[in-house]
Amino acid sequence: MLSTMQDGHLSIGTLLRHATKVHATSEIVTWTGSGTRRETFADLGKHAARLANALRSLGVTGDQRVGTFMWNNAEHMAAYAAIPAMGAVLHTLNIRLFPEQLVFVANHAEDHVVLVDGTLVPLFAKQLPHLKTVRHVIVANGDVSTLQAPEGVEVHSYDELLASQPDTFDWPDVDERSAAAMCYTSGTTGDPKGVAYSHRSLWLHSMQVCMTDSMRLAESDKALAIVPMFHAMSWGLPYAALMIGASLVMPDRFLQPEPIAQILAAEKPTFAAAVPTIWQGLLQYLDANPQDVSHLREVVVGGSAAPPSLMHAFEERYGVPVLHAWGMTETSPLGSVARPPHTATGEQVWAYRYTQGRFPASVSARLISESGEELPWDDESVGELEVQGPWIAASYHGGSAVDPEKFHDGWLRTGDVGKISPDGFLTLTDRSKDVIKSGGEWISSVDLENAVMGHPAVAEAAVIGVPDEKWDERPLVAVVLRQGQQVTAAELREFLADKVAKWQLPEHWSFIEEVPKTSVGKFDKKRLRAMNSDGKLDVTHF
Ligand code: ADP
Repeated sequence: MLSTMQDGHLSIGTLLRHATKVHATSEIVTWTGSGTRRETFADLGKHAARLANALRSLGVTGDQRVGTFMWNNAEHMAAYAAIPAMGAVLHTLNIRLFPEQLVFVANHAEDHVVLVDGTLVPLFAKQLPHLKTVRHVIVANGDVSTLQAPEGVEVHSYDELLASQPDTFDWPDVDERSAAAMCYTSGTTGDPKGVAYSHRSLWLHSMQVCMTDSMRLAESDKALAIVPMFHAMSWGLPYAALMIGASLVMPDRFLQPEPIAQILAAEKPTFAAAVPTIWQGLLQYLDANPQDVSHLREVVVGGSAAPPSLMHAFEERYGVPVLHAWGMTETSPLGSVARPPHTATGEQVWAYRYTQGRFPASVSARLISESGEELPWDDESVGELEVQGPWIAASYHGGSAVDPEKFHDGWLRTGDVGKISPDGFLTLTDRSKDVIKSGGEWISSVDLENAVMGHPAVAEAAVIGVPDEKWDERPLVAVVLRQGQQVTAAELREFLADKVAKWQLPEHWSFIEEVPKTSVGKFDKKRLRAMNSDGKLDVTHF
């Protein structure tokens, strides 16, 4: 029997119409370095309409791709709204990709137009001659004359192009299953791969971001979106904000600890989202320059494992709870969120909060052993995590769903290794390529990193496996000390003695200035391994 219900499309256009009407006074606040630029959702609707008209005037039709090479700001938000709502596909280009990767992804997605922030023109200009399908470049927030157009490419000023456009647009009805936006993985594990989100998947994911046991985004929130809009759709905050009417604070290019602290003081956001390295940097800054940040009801950290020491520091020193979440570009990205069950008490609460989180109804999960068997959820059996659901990728753009490296009988292989508790909480021990295989046993690089980062003198610690004749691989710890702090490798080893099994105690230690980071701010272990094999690390051996 068919249902008797209506069948409205879950589209970005519908979200935009809703936001501009029902939440007309909510705001997009963009930091300028010394103050703010502010736009209400009502104005965002007009802004998006002008942008959509401008893109049509440049010949954007159908599902053509429109790239963005931008910071988090009002113009990027207008692109998020206008491009999918007009039926085209938003492609957020990661400004920190290596040049050859940037060229690869723009050509692979066949971007027709690219919107570029003025301050990023020098970076973009070098690659523009290699972008085969780009016909128009629109420069926002900057001087258009600084960009030399190669033959066949027209360069426009964002402000001039939009000024003469009407501020209404006849937003079409778009099929909810068609692509709305694209994001390429950052290529930590090979060539970047394109994930094309549908209108429907973005809509359902936005509802998840607002759910009480998830990120809990609400109308009363003012959310500081530090996670870039080119990194897994800024973890869903832009569209969820439109859905629920939360205001957004956009840091633009001001991502260092000091300006972030200024933004916090000026705007007093209630919520914020960023990778652990950003929070580590902010913590050090706040410790040296104390300020009240208790306006933050909660901050979310994901993208890589949140060290427990970081969670405790924010909560105990600054009264800000840190919510740990797990996800990937392929999972839109929200996969799991670590809110303890209401029955948890005392230390149990923290134990749950350290995990990568609990799966929501829309994310099915299973663990697969090395020999391909499904493992029980007993919080002990460790295997590769596979997931399935309406906002999980089924294939890559231009790729095939039968790629056995990434897909397995309709499940996404995450490449993450861990265990799941009987009540559905995921604990990741590693990425499959980062696990240290020592004498037939696995050592979790993440567990070791967290243990070392628990030492008060340590700012950051990254652990890699190094070849070992006897054991196959052994852990090497690269340590970055907090400013003005001193500790020796022997003291750190001693500190670990009652925290990890004896056979896991690392015997290779190196003190470095900074852990190399990927384009999205995660520890770049590929580079760290290369530094070690090139003899660039000064290593103490025990
Ligand atoms: P890339 O694969 O290029 O790094 P993503 O941003 O999609 O790009 O990264 C997803 C990966 O990040 C996950 O597969 C996982 O390894 C890691 N990750 C994300 N969140 C967490 C977390 N909370 N704890 C540990 N690892 C995480």
